[in-house]
Amino acid sequence: MKKILSIVLILAFVISMPFIFNKSVTVENPNKLDIDGNFILNEWVPSRVGEGPDWNYNLKPVKISDRVWCFFGAMEMPTKENAGDMSNSCYIKGDTEWIAWDSGPSYIFAKQAYAEMKKIADMPVKTVIISHEHDDHWLGNNYYKEVHGAKIIGAHSINENYFGPRHIEGKDYPGMQTRMIKALYQNATRDTVLALTDEAHDDTVELKIAGVNLEYVKVGYAHSEEDWYLYLPDDKVVLAADVVMNGRVTSNRDGLVIGQINAINSIRAREWDYLVPGHGFITDKTAADESVKYFSILTDRVLEKMEDGVIADFITKEVTLDEYREKDLYYILSPQNVFRSYEELEMYDEDDLIDYVALEAEKKAKKEAAAKAKAEAEAAQAQTVEPTKVEKTEEVNTEAADAAKTESTEVPSVPSVPSVPAVESV
Ligand SMILES: [Zn+2]
Repeated sequence: MKKILSIVLILAFVISMPFIFNKSVTVENPNKLDIDGNFILNEWVPSRVGEGPDWNYNLKPVKISDRVWCFFGAMEMPTKENAGDMSNSCYIKGDTEWIAWDSGPSYIFAKQAYAEMKKIADMPVKTVIISHEHDDHWLGNNYYKEVHGAKIIGAHSINENYFGPRHIEGKDYPGMQTRMIKALYQNATRDTVLALTDEAHDDTVELKIAGVNLEYVKVGYAHSEEDWYLYLPDDKVVLAADVVMNGRVTSNRDGLVIGQINAINSIRAREWDYLVPGHGFITDKTAADESVKYFSILTDRVLEKMEDGVIADFITKEVTLDEYREKDLYYILSPQNVFRSYEELEMYDEDDLIDYVALEAEKKAKKEAAAKAKAEAEAAQAQTVEPTKVEKTEEVNTEAADAAKTESTEVPSVPSVPSVPAVESV
């Protein structure tokens, strides 16, 4: 009898072990939230360390798809305590090299991120692609440039605004100082030097780097003066950077709400299974939902109060976006987002909204027609011409860009502000 009882007790203990020692949860699918709705950050990144001659970022890459890994930053503003590790950056695995998407807040961050990726595949980083000018996304550039000889592709606004000269109302001003270099400890910023971007594009481009098809998509003035996202059509992955955030309130300090809505609609017009936001941990098909709703209700409510005659001085009292009160950074960022959108929406024109779904459909049809014509021409020449192997191609998609230009003027835009799900006010 005693024996049976002790066996039962041991069994009960073994069964309850995962609950008692709740630390060793294996995340089967890293794109999913845990049962409390939190992402896996605390599982993957136990705590920040920070001591030593180099700040220890304690980085752990999270696998998103077959060839994409990302590092997830804290849901905070940049501080000494997080050493600027508060945005997301990714690595894409090519055949012979890594491609980096955003390079993080410092040289040391980039160096430590690479050390982790090298364990997965010992390949250099030859290309770094940057989403936008905010310094939590590109201050690791000089690590990749100096150590790997990488080429940096990024927005024009990075060089203009940080290296200067900045052209403002006919005058030239020097470049701005970065927040990180002003705010962080020496052991986090040491070795970080502003590295110029080598290549900037005027419009969306399709790239093939080390066997990976990439579309670097321009969305223009959205979260900042010049935003881009990266689309991996074969992997069905969007690396959205800051035009999408989740789990926290977005920062629209440099942005435009209508530009944001257009950017998100451009992303929604593409086919994807995973989306990595610039800040936040949700990467599944719901990843953009919070941003869609946020910009939609922000726009609707500010416009509504404007119609009621509420003046700018009182707009932050009248539009409080209570649904987002529980999100990180609400108290710091929400009022300023409301105020800034008031200024912008005073000049609101419905035609500013772009119907990206229609544009994408047209682009696809054109591409298919072109591919068909090309295939027919090639078939005719097949016997005479030897096909050459193309290692790296880069093609400016001028046709689609032209189509986008004419389309936006010819066709009255569909009011594509997403519908707002009913949410109870707190
Ligand atoms: Zn940003």
